[in-house]
Amino acid sequence: MNTVASGPEFVVERAEGVWLWDAAGDRYLDGTSSLWYSNVGHGRPEIADAVHRQLMTLDAYTVYGDFTNRPAQELSERLAAHAPVHDPRVILTCGGGESIDTAAKLARRYWGVLGQPERTHLISRTGGYHGLHGFGTSIIGMDRFRTGFGPLIEQTSVVPYDSAAALEAEILRVGPERVAAFFAEPVIGAGGVFLPPEGYFTEVAQVCRKYGVLFIVDSVICGFARMGNWFGIERFGVNPDMIVFAKGVSSGYMPLGGVVVSGTVAAPFWNEAGNPFIHGTTYAGHPACAAGAMANLDILEREDLFTVSLEVERHLDSALRPLADHPLVAEVRSGVGVMGAVELTEEALTERGITTAEVFAEARARGVILRPVPRALLVSPPITITWEQIDHLSSTLSAALDAVAARH
Ligand code: PLP
Repeated sequence: MNTVASGPEFVVERAEGVWLWDAAGDRYLDGTSSLWYSNVGHGRPEIADAVHRQLMTLDAYTVYGDFTNRPAQELSERLAAHAPVHDPRVILTCGGGESIDTAAKLARRYWGVLGQPERTHLISRTGGYHGLHGFGTSIIGMDRFRTGFGPLIEQTSVVPYDSAAALEAEILRVGPERVAAFFAEPVIGAGGVFLPPEGYFTEVAQVCRKYGVLFIVDSVICGFARMGNWFGIERFGVNPDMIVFAKGVSSGYMPLGGVVVSGTVAAPFWNEAGNPFIHGTTYAGHPACAAGAMANLDILEREDLFTVSLEVERHLDSALRPLADHPLVAEVRSGVGVMGAVELTEEALTERGITTAEVFAEARARGVILRPVPRALLVSPPITITWEQIDHLSSTLSAALDAVAARH
């Protein structure tokens, strides 16, 4: 708050496709899909029309008890049909963090109704980002998000993002009879774009199965064509017990998220009396959000953005790679999904005192929006970006790095 308190605000006035305009009428390339969500790009009239039509038909109504509405039903069925989860059910929410809390509570409650209430421990990965609600803050793999709030949920631990052996060792340390679930993003996004090593997901899925630990995939960033498929995790050929989704499901036009739950995890709640999962929020299953998401999924399918995404991924990778030769750059991470990270060297960050915020500001002054995290600049443009626009993004990032290097 303090860093923006005195400066002018950057008001985003309007947006179309991959472009934004500020209040002065200057145009910027949205190199980050806002916060990783504008998968189909901005300003799609058919999504706005679908939301308008729905609001004029049924604005909103609770989905508690046996109440439901058509858009929520249709969206749930459509997502279930594409999810790599056995016998799937869908819980709809208003966003990613809410869905993480839902999945974490459901995992714990599942073990409770199965007569193993001591299975409460949740394991996540270094660099993993799972939103900032109660459970998300407790399992996040970056300490700076966890501190200053007093005690969080204590039965949690974090393992190195790239080692299935470390996950197994941690399960054994805690005691398998105490571990409820393991959370993993297909590619770690907000934490800095970290790709899983070869074979990683096959191995962690086996480890989870061996110890009866629920395997929960957080596809909030990786879903809905960002990795060339519906939930990202299909790239690695495993079937999780739950998948958490949000962002690209509606391309952000309306706030929506949810959890796909396997039939096994759902069974004790659906098939036996006396096992309620007492959880839910006012706007869950909001018909206008579901209608907006359906229109967004129509675009993804009609324009085959699942296939386009794989081509964009390759082009983005080859456009970002040469930045690794820049004197300020330690590493470029890209090549899986329409996302990448350009990490600065230790020397630049510590000895020369360069910040990623400076590079971000230089790029924005040149008309390209990037996402600065402590050590890297992240990119995750809309899937609809053209080759020319990708080249503009990488050459602007290069020019921003040059400008910052010249100043220090
Ligand atoms: N999970 C992942 C992987 C995310 O990247 C995010 C947000 O960036 C979340 C969960 C939280 O989503 P939300 O900000 O909608 O609560």
